[in-house]
Amino acid sequence: MKSECFSILLSIYFTFGRAEYLDMSYDVGEESMFWPVGNGFTRADVTRDYQPAGYWYHNEMLSFPEHISTHMDAPSHFAENGWTVDQIPLEHLMGPAVKIDISDKVASDQKAILTTDDLSDWWRKYGDFPNGTIVFVYTGWGSRYGNQTAYFGSNSTNSSTFRFPAISVGAAQILTQYERTTGYQILGVGMDTPSLDESDSQTFKVHQELFAANIYGLENVANLEKLPVTGATVTIMPIKIKDGSGGPVRIIAKLPEVNAASDKSLTRSSLSLLLTLLLFIYY
Ligand SMILES: [Zn+2]
Repeated sequence: MKSECFSILLSIYFTFGRAEYLDMSYDVGEESMFWPVGNGFTRADVTRDYQPAGYWYHNEMLSFPEHISTHMDAPSHFAENGWTVDQIPLEHLMGPAVKIDISDKVASDQKAILTTDDLSDWWRKYGDFPNGTIVFVYTGWGSRYGNQTAYFGSNSTNSSTFRFPAISVGAAQILTQYERTTGYQILGVGMDTPSLDESDSQTFKVHQELFAANIYGLENVANLEKLPVTGATVTIMPIKIKDGSGGPVRIIAKLPEVNAASDKSLTRSSLSLLLTLLLFIYY
């Protein structure tokens, strides 16, 4: 009886204490969105069958652009001396995540951009970014992902006709200067849109600005609506393409424990106390 009680109590403890993770990547396949230049995802030479010797064998040959689905733009994408995707130091691929929500503006203006005022408002409300932050700009655009016309805001592949939200050049400059002004480093900037730059940009100034400072980009980021404003930590795992300008990326957020607990009134520490008390009574 005592051991049963103990295991029940332990399972309660671990249920409430378990961290919750958020997958912030879309899958990579035939339906994946990509900047509509060149070919998308194809697979060939698919073996998916029992072999004559009796064992199961699954293997595929794939072809896809670096900048497909949820992907990283390595600094070398728009900065001659910037890191290629395989050169980004591991300590730049993990860190606290912050979310700046401009979805209200986007609801009334499809070409709304993150402005310097949006950044100032965020800092006034939530304080400085922690050191080593990965900044995510949430626009709500991800709900259109999968529909080419809705996601690019145009049924043409001519990029001058695209319409989607983005980051202003001024905001990008503030982000680039952030380390110099505060001492806190920004590692990367992500969005739930096809590009960090304004949709009809022909010069990609936001890319140029951030990447010159070796701040990488993350595009077509998934599930941003579920990321808390602060408190999550993210792990960014781009495919390690030798000399690559970017690549599909798996982004995993570890959500803060207060979000993970199904009953928010019970924290892990109060459960620890409860568990200790109950063990004391039973033994
Ligand atoms: Zn890209």
